[in-house]
Amino acid sequence: MGALVSIMSTVRIVLVSTSHPGNIGAAARAMKTMGLTQLSLVTPRIFPHAEATARAAGADDLLHAARVFSTLAEAVADCNLIIGSSARTRHLEWPQLDARAAGKLAATQAHPSTVAFVFGSERTGLTNAELDRCHYLAHIPTREDFSSLNLAAAVQVMAYEVHMATLTMADGQSKEPADSSTTRRDQHLPAPAIEMERFYTHIEQTLADIDFLNPSRPKLLMRRLRRLFNRAQPDAAEVNILRGILTAIQRRDKG
Ligand code: SAH
Repeated sequence: MGALVSIMSTVRIVLVSTSHPGNIGAAARAMKTMGLTQLSLVTPRIFPHAEATARAAGADDLLHAARVFSTLAEAVADCNLIIGSSARTRHLEWPQLDARAAGKLAATQAHPSTVAFVFGSERTGLTNAELDRCHYLAHIPTREDFSSLNLAAAVQVMAYEVHMATLTMADGQSKEPADSSTTRRDQHLPAPAIEMERFYTHIEQTLADIDFLNPSRPKLLMRRLRRLFNRAQPDAAEVNILRGILTAIQRRDKG
């Protein structure tokens, strides 16, 4: 049971630019039924609000504890794995998972990793710039011509999948002897988002310094590089090596 709680407490739901406070409350209720407690809000249009509390229907403790941020980068700064939830499947810029696979991935990586599921606004969903911060894009399979769930309904499905994957895992593990696998996983935790963002700023700067990147059109190359490094999920020590290489290149370039 303890392991279950630890996993669920390191899976965060992040709602970006939510328009309707009622959806924030309904999302909190959806989370609480599945044992998720960490709710973060990025620039909600209206929050707190009576409608949010009403729709939370008893999950108002999650609303009180919710953290509000002015950027997605801040909301996921400490996260090791970031999964963007999208109603649309996009061109192949991001590795895609269905909700079930996303739930499994989150359950296996959470604790010690901190995992975020990021949801877009009701009207526009997640922007490409927001998806640039995600390792994976998760899609709830639907009818092809009617794919957009209500925001809180989407949170419910993802939270359910994480919960089910966690239950299945806990069931399997209870039959195995305890071992030190957590310690082993700890050593190779993917670097948190804040360190990856510093690395991307550094590599963009270095590539501009050596005229590899055209500063007036940096987006495509940077998106490809993000995709590469997000796939590799380097740990903090590996990111330090890469940044050391960049610093050496910059020093040589200026010297
Ligand atoms: N009109 C928007 C949909 C917004 S729905 C668009 O076209 O993208 C609000 C949010 O709920 C989405 O940003 C997404 O995070 C989530 N969502 C809705 N339907 C989903 C689906 N089928 N799969 C995954 N996430 C979904």
